[in-house]
Order: sequence, then C-alpha cells, then structure tokens
Amino acid sequence: MSLKISSKIKLAARNDREDHIIQIGDTRIGGKNIAVMAGPCSVESREQLMEAAHGINAHGASLLRGGAFKPRTLPYSFQGLGVEGLKILADAREETGLPVVTEVMAPGEVSVVEEYADVFQVGARNTQNYPLLKRLGETRKPVLLKRGLSSTIEEWLGAAEYILNGGNDDVMLCERGIRTYSKLTRFTLDVTAVPLLKEVTHLPVIVDPSHGTGVRSLVTPMAAASVAAGADGLMIEVHPRPEEAMSDGAQSLTVEGFASLMAEVKPIASAVGKKLGHT
Ligand code: PEP
Ligand code: MN
Repeated sequence: MSLKISSKIKLAARNDREDHIIQIGDTRIGGKNIAVMAGPCSVESREQLMEAAHGINAHGASLLRGGAFKPRTLPYSFQGLGVEGLKILADAREETGLPVVTEVMAPGEVSVVEEYADVFQVGARNTQNYPLLKRLGETRKPVLLKRGLSSTIEEWLGAAEYILNGGNDDVMLCERGIRTYSKLTRFTLDVTAVPLLKEVTHLPVIVDPSHGTGVRSLVTPMAAASVAAGADGLMIEVHPRPEEAMSDGAQSLTVEGFASLMAEVKPIASAVGKKLGHT
C-alpha cells in the first residue's frame, strides 16, 4: 500500500515542499527543534498559572499553554476565565519570555485572542468548525490545529487547507488521540500519524500525549514514543497541584513530573538528531 492522499488537498500536501518552519520570536517550530508546549489545561488563577509557567520554563519548555476559553463536555463544568485568563497568560509571557498558545473556539473570539496570544489553538471539537478555520486563515499568527476526535488524516488536512487557503501559511498539526473502543485510556494516541504526516505534508507535527492517553503515567512513555517517531513538538499538561485542577487533573503532570519527562525524552531527541525545548 502506498501513501497517497487526495489530489484535492493542495496547500497542505507535501508535494516536494521542504519541512515548514514556524518562527515565533526566537522560538522555532519544526526543523531540528522539538518545541515543548507545556502548562495547565485551564488558566485557573494568576498564582496557579505563574507557578506553572515558571516551573515549566525552568525545565526547558519552549511555549506556555493554558486554556482561557474552554470547550467542556457539560455546561456545568468550569468554562475558563475568558479574557481575564488571556491577560494572565500575557503577563506570564512577560515574566518568562515564553510565547503563549491558547484555544479559540469561535470566529467572534479570534480578535481578542489575537491581542494576547502568540499561537491560536483549535481544539479537537472544532477541527471542522469551518467558519472558525476561515477566520483564522485571515490572521497572520500561527495556528495549532488539533486532530478531531474522529477525524481521518484527510479530513484533518482538509481542515488545515481552509486556514492555508486564507493566506496563513503557519499551520501545525497536533495529534491528540482518536476515539476507539479502548476504555482504560481516554483516547487512543495514533503515533502512526506522525511518520505518516511527515511523508504527506510539510507542516510541523506536534503530539499531545496528555489528552491522547488521559492517564498521567502514560504521558512520558508516549512523549518518548512520539519523539522517536519524528514529532516536531509536544504538548504537555502541567499543573502545580494536579489534584486541585479544575480540568484534566488526572492527565496533568506536576512540575517535577514535567522535569522527569524532559530528562527522559532528551536523549531520545538527541538520538534522532534534535534538540528538546530550550534544554
Ligand atoms: C486542551 O488542550 O486542553 C483541549 C481541550 O484539547 P483537545 O481539544 O485536544 O481536547
Ligand atoms: Mn485539557
């Protein structure tokens, strides 16, 4: 079987293009760098976010993540701090120098998120939110496009095509697990997607083993596997006190846990000729 994607996918297809590198200030995504995006699932308070931001920065993260607009399964769950959360993220960038990646859920939120963030995150529940993708195509800030909960590779590349078609070249793809019959894990992390995407697209490929497994003890092994498979970056949820987290505590690493992940993954990054985060 050969890997052939639909010829209708034009801009997201590799078609002999060199690996695309996204530059955000001094931070590079793609090429010989493995970008490590880390931070809490949700921005919960200034104290929590600052503690997480300084912790991950001390252990070599390259970008700070944190949700201000949260896509929760139930309306009764914590919905995020909204604009207040964005301001806290921007203050953390000021203190640490780390660029900020945060989710945007609706076309109407794009302008305000753009004011504070360096990278837009499109969540798995919005991978096929076409009005949102078209709106992000009009911006000139990078977009981290997560894989939909049940997106095929071509559907996912089709979603990227919407952003690229608007004139925004800086799209990175983030594998975060797909729905299968597995019950012990939250999702099934499709590590095959990494080398597969490296063949069929020039866009950087990030892996999120936190959502991909939903289980803290599986995050580091799957981060290691993803780097070995050729990932250009990792997205890792880190909370100073996971047991108190307002979302995704069960899959969040402590700052110490994140330090161990970096130490374990670093030699694997070296083995494939890459540098991990800013270590
Ligand atoms: C997140 O990054 O916190 C998140 C909600 O991710 P996903 O869209 O992959 O579920
Ligand atoms: Mn989360």
